[in-house]
Amino acid sequence: MRKTNKSVIMIIITMIFTAYSFIIVYSLQENNDIFIKNGSRNEKFIALTFDDGPHPKETNEVLDILDKYNIKGTFFVVGKHANWYSESLIRAAKEGHEIGNHTFNHPDITNLSNGDIKKEIKDCEDTLVKLTGKKPTLFRPPYGSYTQDKLGQIAKECGYKIILWTTIDAKDWRNPPVAQISDTITNNVQNGDIILLHDYGTKNTVKALDIIIPTMIKKGYKFVTVSELINK
Ligand code: ZN
Repeated sequence: MRKTNKSVIMIIITMIFTAYSFIIVYSLQENNDIFIKNGSRNEKFIALTFDDGPHPKETNEVLDILDKYNIKGTFFVVGKHANWYSESLIRAAKEGHEIGNHTFNHPDITNLSNGDIKKEIKDCEDTLVKLTGKKPTLFRPPYGSYTQDKLGQIAKECGYKIILWTTIDAKDWRNPPVAQISDTITNNVQNGDIILLHDYGTKNTVKALDIIIPTMIKKGYKFVTVSELINK
């Protein structure tokens, strides 16, 4: 009798453990769908992304270059900058570029409570909806800094995918020479890459774009927005 009880208990424990493992694996897989670093590796599509704007001068210069080559980019916008420089943002949205959420104040969200992270996302979202009429569906954490489980849960609740970037990082915000930015990107890009650049506080990004875009077009790449890239 005792032996039977023991084995029943063991079976129950095993079942609970198995179910729990499935839940963990399943939630990790779900999180993997939410955290995105690149699109499909099978086709020559890539996405240019610009963080921290809008800026009254730089964003307009980036828009002029994208317009020159007739391609669309994705802008991860800081809510307070959108309020200050709304014209550049409205222009980007009108010209068919994708607008993503990059928080309202650009804090390192690893130091914030869940409530404060949600407020950063919501305040930026409200600003973007007010100015562009569209709720963003992409979120990029400032500094690429986050706690996976915490941000994964919040993103699910708020209806966002987390867009990171491919490992190539030209660090254009540090203002390296034009050729260093363009070489880093053109020599390393692969199919499906999400390329990180900035349209706030940079000196050479716009000039580098005028090299990067035609070089990659010559290599047979097509530039698309992040949503187009990840839905292919
Ligand atoms: Zn940023």
